[in-house]
Amino acid sequence: MIIDGFKIEIIRSKKRKKTIQARLTGESSIRVLAPYAASGDFVLGFVKKTAEKFALKDLISGKAGDLQKRAEMLKDKYMPKAPDFTISYSGSLKSAWGKCFVRDKKIILNPRLVSFPLWVTDYVIIHEIVHLIYPDHGKNFRTQVSKYRLKERATGYLLAKGLTGSGL
Ligand SMILES: [Zn+2]
Repeated sequence: MIIDGFKIEIIRSKKRKKTIQARLTGESSIRVLAPYAASGDFVLGFVKKTAEKFALKDLISGKAGDLQKRAEMLKDKYMPKAPDFTISYSGSLKSAWGKCFVRDKKIILNPRLVSFPLWVTDYVIIHEIVHLIYPDHGKNFRTQVSKYRLKERATGYLLAKGLTGSGL
């Protein structure tokens, strides 16, 4: 099982009664030690939370690559004709997940994204990069962002977190 880019290994032990534990066993693998009788849902919930936490640490320590580099990689893949731009998290952005200043070629992201899975942030980044070329949400825009395979899932995830699609 792979979650947030981490390979997850679950070991159930009959000796373990209540406690569930996780530790990093490599750059990107997590070993989970779970009680033998714990329900699948419980273990999965724990694993997801743990992966998010480790992904967040990675992001902060810069192991996941810095934001600018990641965004440039996404630009090359999804919108190569976009101009060069700068991107950063901004605490001033509260009512939207991301914002694109077309004229300044500047993208800012809501810092709440840091605690979401990387594939969700990737979608917000792609969305804003595509705005550098197509400022509205017209047909060309939609065709371009739809190239991201996880677009629908990411949109659903963001909606569930409380800001609507128009928050992009
Ligand atoms: Zn938009």
